[in-house]
Order: sequence, then C-alpha cells, then structure tokens
Amino acid sequence: MSKYTRVRGTQDFLPERAELLHFINESAVSFFENYGYRLIITPTFENSELFKRSVGESTDIIQKEMYEFKDKGGRDLALRPEGTASVVRAYIENNLGELPKPVKLIYVSQMFRYERPQAGRYREFWQIGAEAIGSPDPALDAEVIELCLNFLNSLAVKDLKLIINSMGCRNCRPGYIKVLKKFLSEKEALFCKTCSQRIEQNPLRVFDCKQKECQKVLSEAPKISDYICEEDKEHFEKVKIYLKTLNVEFVIDPHLVRGFDYYTRTAFEITLSSLGSQDAIAGGGRYDYLIKDYGGPDEPAIGFAFGTERIMLAFENQNITVFTEPEPDVFVAWVEEAQKSDALRISAMLREKHLRVSMAFDSRKLKSQLKLADKLNANTALIVGEEEIKSGKYTFKDLESAKQEKLTIEEVVNKFKDNK
Ligand code: AMP
Repeated sequence: MSKYTRVRGTQDFLPERAELLHFINESAVSFFENYGYRLIITPTFENSELFKRSVGESTDIIQKEMYEFKDKGGRDLALRPEGTASVVRAYIENNLGELPKPVKLIYVSQMFRYERPQAGRYREFWQIGAEAIGSPDPALDAEVIELCLNFLNSLAVKDLKLIINSMGCRNCRPGYIKVLKKFLSEKEALFCKTCSQRIEQNPLRVFDCKQKECQKVLSEAPKISDYICEEDKEHFEKVKIYLKTLNVEFVIDPHLVRGFDYYTRTAFEITLSSLGSQDAIAGGGRYDYLIKDYGGPDEPAIGFAFGTERIMLAFENQNITVFTEPEPDVFVAWVEEAQKSDALRISAMLREKHLRVSMAFDSRKLKSQLKLADKLNANTALIVGEEEIKSGKYTFKDLESAKQEKLTIEEVVNKFKDNK
C-alpha cells in the first residue's frame, strides 16, 4: 500500500472510466455543435469574489462548499464551484457580445465543491455546461431544455424526468419573498439551524435544505408561481407551449428554485430516479441579470450543466457499454534480442499506417511473447526473425485460427485495409 492515497471526494479515472468520460465530453461538444455551441475553456480558479457575487453569499455553495485559498501574492482565489460565473466573466472580458446573438458556448470541465462525498457526489467532479447569452426569447428556453434532454437521449439514458418552474424576475420576486418569509418565520421552530438563519438572510435558500423535516414544512410553503408577474407568466406559458411543440414532456414543480441566487424566470432540472439520493443529472435556468450585474451589457441568458459522473452512473445502471478494451491489431514479436530494433522499427511503420500495435519488451522467449499477445487479445502476431529480415517476408499469424503465412509489411497493412 502506498504512503499516499487520493484526497477524500476525489477520483482516479482508470482507463475504462477515463475513456468513457472522454467519450461523453467529446460527444457533447459535437452534439452541441449542431445547435450552434462552441467550446470555451476558462481557468480552473478565479477571484473568489466572482462566485460570491453571482452564486450568492448565503447559498450552500458559497457558505459551505467553496475551495478558497490565498495565493502567494495574497490574492483571494477559489477553485471554480460552477461554470456559469466564469463563462459570463470571460464573455464580458473578451467582448463576446459582439458576436451574433444568442452567443452559444459549451464548457467541459472539473468543478470543486466541499460536499459530503457519497455515490454520485464528489468534491472534484465533471460538468458539461452550456450557456446561451443575449436573448430573452422563451423559444430559446425550449431549445436549451430540449438540447439538454436530447443529448441524454442520444446516449440512450432512459427514464429521465424533466421538472420546470418559473422563478420570477426582480419586479415580482420581492413580493413573493415577503410572503415566503412570513410563512417561514411563523414555522421557524420547525426548521434546522441553517434554515432558520436563512429565513432572515435569504428565505429562498431554505428550499435547498435536504433535511426531511424541513422539506415537510416546505411542502406547504406558498408557491412562487402564484406570485409571478404577468410578463413572467406569459413567458412561462410560451416556454411550455414551445416544449410541447418539441414533444418534450415535463412536470411543473412550483417549489423548484435551484441553489443559485442568479436564476430568474425558467428553472429546470432533469432527474433520474435510478441514481438514488443524488438523482439530479442536470440542472439549469435563466439568469437575465447576471451579465449586467457583472458590469457587462444588459443581456438575458440561459444555461445548464450536466453532472458527467452521473451520466456515467446511469450508463452503469443501465448496462450501457461504450467501450471494450482496445485490442492490438498486430502484436510484433522478435525471435532474438538482435531483432528487437527491427521489431521496434516495424511497429512504428505499422502504426504509421493506422494499425494498433503492441510489441514485447524485456528479455523474453518467443513463446512467452506469444502468450503475452494472447493476454492482450491481439488478433494477429508478426514474427520478426533473422530469416524474415533478410527476405523481407515476415511470419504473420492469425492468433485465433493459428494459421500462418509469410507476408511483406505492405501485405500485412493491406490485410487490415478493408476493416479500417
Ligand atoms: P448545479 O451546478 O448544482 O446546478 O449542478 C448541475 C449538475 O451537476 C447536477 O445536476 C449534478 O448532476 C452535478 N453535480 C452537482 N454537484 C455534484 C457533485 N458534488 N458531484 C457530482 N456531480 C455533481
């Protein structure tokens, strides 16, 4: 056992999972391209203030979960806990607002949150996120939600449930908050300590509490949908109509408020019950004021993020396999040490022709090399001996049928041509 182990809540992605993660990330980038999204990569850490301002001081993320540190220059920094704040910062800083609207960006990156680790919940995890900036159109909300679902469908993830709600805007939400605060204050004794603090600071955040007792009281809380203004109602109605046009099924949850302060109007979440207690596979919503609040133009926007490990968990639960171990097309074996350099050279030549090639290293007898080829599930072996080098014709063995023939390198390459 090594002296060192990985830090709690982090993960080693061993080859199979690493390849799957890579596959999902790459699939997302090309899938989202069809909707007009382009990849953006922002730094892993930012000024802490960026997140505090957008996500909200009284959210779980900022109060309990952010990895904050001072660098050697005394700057207050944080590992990003989510992607939207960074994308919006980059959007303003790089004048992306000059591009045709909506500007559509996808990011694929690790996030960091000091949460209690459990199945599907890590302290460093991957998200695939999308942001569409510069339009208030409810048709865009529908397109974004459909993209989110459609990507999961394209990966064959089944039994998804889409929950939507409207969280109102800055005109109508204060009215709702007042009513909510009154309701919560009257029941304060029934809430946990964090909730009772939040009743005063930011009552909406009480909905984020995962404690059963708190959730029970909240089930009777006033609904935001009863308090939103006419414009927001109309906006939400249109979102629903457009979703129906796209044949997207949804459930309205009037208590869905999402754990970030920046959301306005449409909020949504996609859940998958087979994931257990961490059943949210994606979540998002509108953030119509964030860009202006950061000092940018007055541009409404909408975005969402998937939890990539949760997509991977769904794959496991549904026995979806994407990869089998990549077996070598050809295993290059040498008869004596003297031919090792030729084997090395021939391996390189074959790889240049896009074949998957392994060869034997260390001191090994030919027999043991062929055993290794078997273990690697190689399809064929090419044997390089003194004779072969002289004649330019190598022993090419089909490891399944054990048939062998003498072939030139070119003939070996041609054997694979039809399958490549
Ligand atoms: P959020 O940024 O909180 O809206 O989360 C978006 C998605 O990221 C969620 O629906 C989850 O799928 C995923 N997610 C959030 N937190 C974690 C975590 N600690 N570990 C793994 N996935 C997470």
